[in-house]
Amino acid sequence: MIEELPKEVDFIEVEKKWQKKWIESEIYKFDWNDRERPVFTIDTPPPYPSGEFHMGNVLNWTYFDMVARYKRMRGYNVHFPQGWDCHGLPTEVRVERLYGIKKTEVSPEEFRKLCIEFADKNIKAMKEAVIRLGCSIDWSLEYKTMDPDYWRRTQLSFVLLYRKGFIYRDVHPVNWCPRCGTAIADAEVEYVERKGYLYYIKFKLSNGEPLIIATTRPELIPACVAVAVHPEDKRYAHLIGEEVEIPIFGRKVRIIADNMVDPKFGTGAVMICTYGDKADVKFVAKHDLQLMLCINEEGRMTEKAGKYAGMTIEECRRTIVEDLEKLGLIERAEEVEREVGVCWRCKTPIEILVKKQWFMKTRILTGDVERKAYEIEWYPEYMRYRLIDWAKSLDWDWVISRQRIFATPIPIWYCENCGEIIVAEPDWLPIDPRTTSPKIDKCPKCGENKFKPETDVLDTWFDSSITCAVHAGWPDREDWRRLFPSDLHPSGYDIIRTWAYYLMVRHLALFGEKPYKRCLINGMVLGTDGRMMHKSYGNYVAASEVFEKYGADATRQWAAGGGATGSDIPFRWSEVKHGWRFIRKLWNASRFISMQLKDFDPKEKVELEIVDKWLMSKLSKTIRAVTEAFEKYAFNIALERIRIFTWRVFCDQYIEAVKHRLYNPEIYGEKSRKAAQHTLYKALYTIIQLLAPICPHITEEIYHRMYAWEKNYSSIHVSPWPKPWSVDVEAEEIGDLAVAIISTIRREKASRRMPLSSKVRKLKIYVKDKEKAEKLMKVIDDIAGTCKAEEIEVIPTEGEGVTVEEYPSIRIRIE
Ligand SMILES: [Zn+2]
Ligand SMILES: [Zn+2]
Repeated sequence: MIEELPKEVDFIEVEKKWQKKWIESEIYKFDWNDRERPVFTIDTPPPYPSGEFHMGNVLNWTYFDMVARYKRMRGYNVHFPQGWDCHGLPTEVRVERLYGIKKTEVSPEEFRKLCIEFADKNIKAMKEAVIRLGCSIDWSLEYKTMDPDYWRRTQLSFVLLYRKGFIYRDVHPVNWCPRCGTAIADAEVEYVERKGYLYYIKFKLSNGEPLIIATTRPELIPACVAVAVHPEDKRYAHLIGEEVEIPIFGRKVRIIADNMVDPKFGTGAVMICTYGDKADVKFVAKHDLQLMLCINEEGRMTEKAGKYAGMTIEECRRTIVEDLEKLGLIERAEEVEREVGVCWRCKTPIEILVKKQWFMKTRILTGDVERKAYEIEWYPEYMRYRLIDWAKSLDWDWVISRQRIFATPIPIWYCENCGEIIVAEPDWLPIDPRTTSPKIDKCPKCGENKFKPETDVLDTWFDSSITCAVHAGWPDREDWRRLFPSDLHPSGYDIIRTWAYYLMVRHLALFGEKPYKRCLINGMVLGTDGRMMHKSYGNYVAASEVFEKYGADATRQWAAGGGATGSDIPFRWSEVKHGWRFIRKLWNASRFISMQLKDFDPKEKVELEIVDKWLMSKLSKTIRAVTEAFEKYAFNIALERIRIFTWRVFCDQYIEAVKHRLYNPEIYGEKSRKAAQHTLYKALYTIIQLLAPICPHITEEIYHRMYAWEKNYSSIHVSPWPKPWSVDVEAEEIGDLAVAIISTIRREKASRRMPLSSKVRKLKIYVKDKEKAEKLMKVIDDIAGTCKAEEIEVIPTEGEGVTVEEYPSIRIRIE
């Protein structure tokens, strides 16, 4: 039976109730045994457990939860996992701060334990937020990358890639964060504008003349191994091949020509240092220059820096500038804004050091990455080029080793005698070489049996860049290819160069296949001041605050409707409030309907009237438009179409236009009332179905109170998505006419300060067009009934009165 909805309802409590019931009833559980329904897999990003599920996450998760819900209703067996990407520096730093310790002061096991506790606590908080947002995750698929079982997969992927020749160990320049004391990948280097000075420094030519060289980094003078000029730079052509003496140190270096030099920078003569930046790395390789490494892992000057040894980079810069000034070797200095590469985590300027590290060959895959990027559907389309451009811009392979503790260990040992690399066998995994020896008796090369472990660990992205295969069940399920490639990879545009890229190269290298078929890209959330939302900007809004005030359904409407997919979306309380009002409107309309349908029998045959047909025809068009929008991941369009139909067409126009039929069957006939009931029942059901992916809670509540008894689905979220039916052009035409006239009359009543429910003694409608007049006659009762006209007359002349906006040839007159 249809239950009468209560007037007052605590929407927040309703949401919490359903969140609990959904988990208990396991309606979102993926059915591994179902071979009939098509599968739809979502490569849910495993977030880093910072402890805070912020509005950016809300936007991201709302996007793909809407997809999951829509696809489920479209008949897919939806695979919607959730993992947690636990390892990494941020946790190490926060644990150190929390306990006031340095990670080197306790044993690695002890430190790891503290990190796990910390991550677990944060995961708990974030999981609650994901549930609070109403995400239809299958929690039986939950995983954490810090669990040994996940290590096993990460390590297996390392071993397989090693065997395939994709992984190598080499001495190579790497980006190095002196603050964090670890190598970092290109993707972890951020470029920022920093103020600094460009110093014009005198080097000495063999004839005693000065050669002026401009640099922002005078502390690298001891690392200078050459001076370079452009081969076509006339100013220096005669000097190419000569030697020049570097100041303070007196060492002589050669002047070389290279067209990588920008003649417009400084004086056109630049110093090549090992290493100031990536360009230096190229120069050194190309001209086979020697190395002078004068900065160490802690960001201090080495003994190569002579009397500056032991100083920090900053101290050294200051002191060298002072010394140069004393010697009269600084011609001038100008203040400049320069682009500096900094560590993504701590914002310390990165240095380029030469280190023995583990690398994955990624550049050889660039051609494949580009080809696959074209096979993939991108929403929005242009995001494809972010991946391609990034892949092409890389000039180094991916450095995958890190000098940290809380990470997946590299399953490698070295023979203490001959240095042979021992790689773990797949059946040894998971394994921590720092605590466990290789399961062999002796070194296969020299026969000795002493091994030392690799103490470096893997980059966190090495864990999380195999999720598409892991979600599918690799390597344990034989049928994992059924769920691979993933149907949808959702991500923010800011991490295409990491997340989407690493997934791509790893799966290409491991399986020769792209990891995902579609990419759904979300923009960033902006604060109320239009800047990126950030705690330090004072424009930060916590998701929990929004949930508490207006609930998840209103918040999700902000996320869905805030802007086009992929664009930056400002957070606006007004948008959330608008969503809240929409829910109230829907509830009130549903409540009205529930009261009008007390004696309703859905099996009873009815004959729809023109106005009913008009509504159903418009609804059919809405189904078509909303379906198309969901298919294209255009959530803002889907929401807009649903809201316009529900609010304007259904509530403001249709319900008002059938009240007289519902209230006065003795005048308009019982059949007419039944037809209106039938239309209300069906239309509301379709509305809540269309809205269910966006507002899962309120729609579930209405469904259970009004429809579950007859429809018999355990949830609206497993009911089949509505199919459009044929449109009725004539009914739409007549209905539009009636609606336009009714709203003109209502406006006219309002302007005369008459209550809308007040009676009109006589209503005259002037319609000169004979055909329109005939059509109007078919809905004349509806107009009279809705407008409470005691007498109504259609007059086939121009007449005097208020013009109907949409039909300027029609006038109405209230008497
Ligand atoms: Zn750092
Ligand atoms: Zn050996």
